[in-house]
Amino acid sequence: MKLFSFKGGVKPNPNKSVSTALPIAQAPLVGRYIVPLHQSVGGTPRPIVNVGDYVLKGQRIGEADGWVSAAVHAPTSGTVVEIGPHIIPHPSGLPTDCVVIEADGRDTWIERTPFDVDHASPDAIREYLRDMGIVGMGGAVFPSHVKLAVPKGKHIEQLIINGAECEPFISCDDRLMREQAEEVILGSALFGQLVHAGQVLIGVEDNKPEAIAALKAAQEKLDAPVAVITVPTIYPTGGAKELIRVLTGKEVPGSKRATDFGVQVFNVATVQSAWRAITYGEPLISRIVTISGAVGESRNWSVPIGMPIADLVALAQPKPESDGVIMGGPMMGFKVSTNAAPVIKSTNSLIVNAPGLFPPKPQELPCIRCGACATACPQELQPFELYWWSRANKFEPLEKYKLFDCIECGCCDYVCPSHIPLVNYFRFSKSEIQAAQREKQLADAARDRFEFREARAEREKREKAERLAKANAARQAAEAAAAASTPTPAKPEEGVPDLSSHPNQASTPIAVDNHPVLDASAKQAAIAAAVERARLKREQHADKAGSTAP
Ligand code: SF4
Ligand code: SF4
Repeated sequence: MKLFSFKGGVKPNPNKSVSTALPIAQAPLVGRYIVPLHQSVGGTPRPIVNVGDYVLKGQRIGEADGWVSAAVHAPTSGTVVEIGPHIIPHPSGLPTDCVVIEADGRDTWIERTPFDVDHASPDAIREYLRDMGIVGMGGAVFPSHVKLAVPKGKHIEQLIINGAECEPFISCDDRLMREQAEEVILGSALFGQLVHAGQVLIGVEDNKPEAIAALKAAQEKLDAPVAVITVPTIYPTGGAKELIRVLTGKEVPGSKRATDFGVQVFNVATVQSAWRAITYGEPLISRIVTISGAVGESRNWSVPIGMPIADLVALAQPKPESDGVIMGGPMMGFKVSTNAAPVIKSTNSLIVNAPGLFPPKPQELPCIRCGACATACPQELQPFELYWWSRANKFEPLEKYKLFDCIECGCCDYVCPSHIPLVNYFRFSKSEIQAAQREKQLADAARDRFEFREARAEREKREKAERLAKANAARQAAEAAAAASTPTPAKPEEGVPDLSSHPNQASTPIAVDNHPVLDASAKQAAIAAAVERARLKREQHADKAGSTAP
């Protein structure tokens, strides 16, 4: 298969052989697990357990908040003893809400049911993966179900499974591919089927010959529709856009998504965990973590999510001179602010630091505009320009120089003869720009709310006036109609008592203050008058009859 190359890149010492010598070991149970609710890109899951609840291993404890979010689960059985903020391994060093579980030591699983993927709709499969907490395990922690939703009108020509693992020291994917090659192949084929990919390509750097051999053997045995492709070892080939370039020749600009170019990328550990979720009903509650650096035993461990870093590092026998832990590799990693923080879904490696392991950079010198940083940049940026504008706190031009296309790979730092910590400058500028954007968004939102309120008050006033005018018009029309239809009083018929002739009676009811008593007395008076007239008539008849009698 024809391979392509990307511009730039560097070749740091891989330092992987120390941690790949031993197979993956299972981390033993510890007393407490701190499970952050927010472990993926997107909404923070809502806790669905309370303090005091007993939970089983694999039980869902945090429910996905919206579509771009993923559930979190209990890593072991035990009791929820706290739901509250704890420091997690993140460059910000800030706390986030976590569910703390006191383990009961029994490690009892919840009932696990395989998912019938063959009879489920694509939406049901994606929802299932979301509820099983499947996210990108290469570091990006993007919810996988979202990436499996291919936008309408797009076709995935190449599904790329990333086994490049280019950062020095990190070897968790290497050991996974060696030891669980069949699961990686089956997971890759499953994802290929889910997105109807034209091709499924597993890219592995050529410094992992055992992993390549294991994958190829598994692919042949299973006759899976995937291809295992060996790619050259150049940092940062493991970057999604760099691997896409190497395997397909397609260049995805910073502002575009890979799916716009018919490509999607998943990490090898992600497809393997998704396959286990579907086949065994196992949610994502553990991951493989490389522990290396100043330790007595460098190796990979299968670690329950939530295990405190201090407990895990203790298993590797840290050297007495160790002075902190770096999460990730030396190129892109960051120092963990406290070892009390837990292992999370994005913890692929912990490097125990010690003086001499990563000597501090010599004194920063002025930029000599040698251009070495631009030559090394895989994103084809001009880091020295970004540096100048960042240093001058002039943020507007940074957009022109595509600051946000920078993947913070550290290649520019690595080659700079003036030892300028370029990535630190870029991170600072990015955070300042993002903070300014957030402030602007908040101000815009406040202004929008005010304008909306004003417009609503104005509209309500107008509607009220219209309603009043309508009511008035209707009342006037009703009055006019009533006046037109009121009948003229008719002459009383002969023989019918003429109530109006009675001195105490009017032809219409007396309606002083609508008093009903007056109506009744008027009627009584009219009846009395009629009775009197009838009596007089009878007497007249009787007189007449008497005068004419024989
Ligand atoms: S490599 Fe360092 S010194 Fe050279 S241009 Fe870039 S920032 Fe300046
Ligand atoms: S850190 Fe950014 S600017 Fe420096 S080489 Fe990497 S992508 Fe380029």
